Amino acid sequence: MAVESEHLDTLAIHAGQAPDPVSGAVMTPIVLASTFAQDGPGVHKGFEYARTGNPTRQTLERCIAALEGGAHGVAFGSGCAAMTTLLHTLRPGDHVVASDDVYGGSFRILDKVMRPLGIETTQVDMTDPENVARAMRDTTRMLWVETPTNPMLKLVDIAKVAAIGRARGATVVVDNTFATPMLQRPLALGAHAVLHSTTKYLNGHSDVVGGVVVTSEDALAERLRFLQNAIGAVPSPFDCYLVLRGLKTLPVRMERHVKSAGAIAEWLEAQPNVARVIYPGLSSHPQRALAERQMAGPGGMISFVVRGGLPAARALLATVRVFCCAESLGGVESLIEHPAIMTHGSVPADARAALGIDDGLIRISVGLEALEDLRADLAAALAAAARA
Ligand SMILES: *Cc1c(COP(=O)(O)O)cnc(C)c1O
Repeated sequence: MAVESEHLDTLAIHAGQAPDPVSGAVMTPIVLASTFAQDGPGVHKGFEYARTGNPTRQTLERCIAALEGGAHGVAFGSGCAAMTTLLHTLRPGDHVVASDDVYGGSFRILDKVMRPLGIETTQVDMTDPENVARAMRDTTRMLWVETPTNPMLKLVDIAKVAAIGRARGATVVVDNTFATPMLQRPLALGAHAVLHSTTKYLNGHSDVVGGVVVTSEDALAERLRFLQNAIGAVPSPFDCYLVLRGLKTLPVRMERHVKSAGAIAEWLEAQPNVARVIYPGLSSHPQRALAERQMAGPGGMISFVVRGGLPAARALLATVRVFCCAESLGGVESLIEHPAIMTHGSVPADARAALGIDDGLIRISVGLEALEDLRADLAAALAAAARA
């Protein structure tokens, strides 16, 4: 029997997991078999073919579902695969309302994959829930919410937006990749489904690409399981094992990510050549009250604008040694990147400007290294930026 608990610290380690009944192995075995023996046609132990179901994957799905407080988890080969599969619950003619600064890959799926299939999306600034209500059509079947957003770290009031969606019969989905269930639990706030790129904090070690959807809606879960098997964008058993392993330390990792990010955000705000720091835990963040109400902590991501534009940003990124200049986020190691050129390079310049993605904007994912080393690294890089 798996351990039961109300505490996420315990669930992260035990939910869905029990010592292997065959060997007593304490850790979930990696079951690589593509097919499972049947005693007779259709008589089996719950597994037939590994695209349809795999024990390692099932354990992962149950663990993440427990952390999000949902009944069903459905795992995929990437966050984008999870999103694309979820969007396949829609039909041509259906309409989606999405946050205006969703993850670049999410925008690409909505705009370049779903739109040609007849599923149109309207993007709005969801920081004002009224914008969502105004964008709703009779055909609106899904709200796609990302909070905090990337890279501007805007927040969306999940409870308010979920109420608007529910009143109109639209499925409310929250991409909870940035916050993780440790800091924010969208299902409890009224969302129908939560999506994660497990590539980020849930795995936390920058060595897996994966995704998951969690829901308590039985009909949605049944459709997702059908599509998971039919479309087949499933994760490998080894990747499922790695995410399960990463999850065990998610609670302690998030605690440290939040603590170090808070200290660095405050320190950055005091630096003369930093024009602006965006972090939901700072009193300068316009939605700090919402962050305190909706989140258990402001997260491990910080965006800031270095004075001096692109040359200063380039000098800063060329100087860091502890921070690694790379895309992605949520790993144990600290990462730094330039959204205008890197993660959001595919967003047209005018759209970038409208969102506030300045050429001096830098995004950091604060890792678990010593705070002193991280601060010293940024201090040296800011000094180089000032000379650029
Ligand atoms: C990375 C990311 C995704 C996409 O996930 P992949 O695992 O890279 O496919 C979706 N949403 C957010 C917020 C992300 O950061």
